[in-house]
Amino acid sequence: MIGGGYAGMAAAQAFCERGAHVAVFEAAKVLGGRARRIQYRDETLDNGQHILSGAYSTLLQLMQRAGGPATDLKRIPLTLSMPPAFRMRAPRWPAPLHLAAALLGARGLGWADRFAALGMMRALRASNYQVDPTQTVAAMLSAHRQTSALLRHVWQPLAVGALNTPIDSASAQVFAHVLRDALDAKRDASDLLLPCVDLSALYPERAAALVRERGGEVLTGCRVDALAPRAAAIDLRFDGQARTYDAVIVAVGPHQLASLEAPGCLDGAKAAEFAFEQIVTVYFKFAAAVRLPEPMLGQADGRVQWFFDRRDLLHPNARDGLIAGVISAAGSPSTTDAAAGEGTFETLAWRELSVHCPQAPEPEWTKTVTEKFATIACTPALHARRPACATSHPRVFLAGDYVHSPYPATLESAARSGVDAARAALASITPH
Ligand SMILES: Cc1cc2nc3c(=O)[nH]c(=O)nc-3n(C[C@H](O)[C@H](O)[C@H](O)COP(=O)(O)OP(=O)(O)OC[C@H]3O[C@@H](n4cnc5c(N)ncnc54)[C@H](O)[C@@H]3O)c2cc1C
Repeated sequence: MIGGGYAGMAAAQAFCERGAHVAVFEAAKVLGGRARRIQYRDETLDNGQHILSGAYSTLLQLMQRAGGPATDLKRIPLTLSMPPAFRMRAPRWPAPLHLAAALLGARGLGWADRFAALGMMRALRASNYQVDPTQTVAAMLSAHRQTSALLRHVWQPLAVGALNTPIDSASAQVFAHVLRDALDAKRDASDLLLPCVDLSALYPERAAALVRERGGEVLTGCRVDALAPRAAAIDLRFDGQARTYDAVIVAVGPHQLASLEAPGCLDGAKAAEFAFEQIVTVYFKFAAAVRLPEPMLGQADGRVQWFFDRRDLLHPNARDGLIAGVISAAGSPSTTDAAAGEGTFETLAWRELSVHCPQAPEPEWTKTVTEKFATIACTPALHARRPACATSHPRVFLAGDYVHSPYPATLESAARSGVDAARAALASITPH
């Protein structure tokens, strides 16, 4: 396994659960890849706040089998809270009543908005969630006459959160799949799951413990430089050494493929030429117990889409405060921002946070984490170019959030692709 992110660790877990011997090579010192713990001063942060969904069936099962307790995640019913204008919360009622009740009870929506939303969901269900593969989310919403209140408070936050791509360019088909699995499924599929431990501890490190327990190896700080395929085996080169394996799963990020030498194996995936969307996370640490009214607070009009109360989630009894502001599909601070003298994301985020916490003192420190290659851009064209798990070598496979899937690049698609790759790799080495 090359790569110890969520895809690589899912593949490793699936592999060793089937009794196969596995070795994971991870270039970084910490497991998790684009969902990992970072240390800053004496604080444990993440490279970016993540939200899981109740629809993440594969990842949630893997986590459970790896021994992750339910308390690692705070499960809340689908809630979109954007004070003061908008609030929607699904009650714990059976589907689809929970969604109808959420729309009926939403503050900030009128009857026209509610009927339009239900009309679009009905139409999508009637089409079996198949839409024109070239259509964008914005075009789909416009074709279904969604109102501006729905766009600002419901569809845009959901689409940008899930696809990390502006709705003007995001794939309607992928969004339709997300809506199907989260909103037109069992009630708990629409739940939001907020991590209460850091992202490396949440899954990759538990999976690594399981792999080691079953006799496998997980090597961190160990970059693979090249794979040299032979007819029925592959040599891996790392740190001036070489080892031979029956099959290899390449679970590096799409932006990291180019630096891996792999003649005759990865040419298709390397040629895919992805574009990426960045995500910026700004942390504010306060000496005082600054708290948000709820763990996750949205903004319809800000540059920050969501503020998260990290103390509420990770250390509820702490006497200080730590708040994270997340800017998905971030681009750069716009020319309008610059003209207003609001050059950095940090300044923008602080100004916006001050509206929700007017009494907050100056933060002790702030830390901005910019993930330039957070996900591939989920546009119709790029979605169509996502590579298959199989490569041109019969014993080399791809895993990762960018690999072909009906879903956007998320933790769940990473986990699913890992499990699929493990299955394919095992089949390739099992005598028929
Ligand atoms: C800031 C941010 C916020 C996000 N928010 C969400 C969210 O709320 N919900 C959600 O579901 N998803 C979210 N995502 C997306 C999610 O993090 C990714 O989809 C997922 O982590 C991708 O996992 P992966 O295993 O496919 O790739 P990666 O995590 O990129 O793993 C690849 C690993 O391979 C290693 N590697 C690379 N080259 C080599 C080499 N030569 N040798 C050895 N190792 C190598 C890397 O170090 C890395 O650890 C977010 C992403 C970011 C960055």
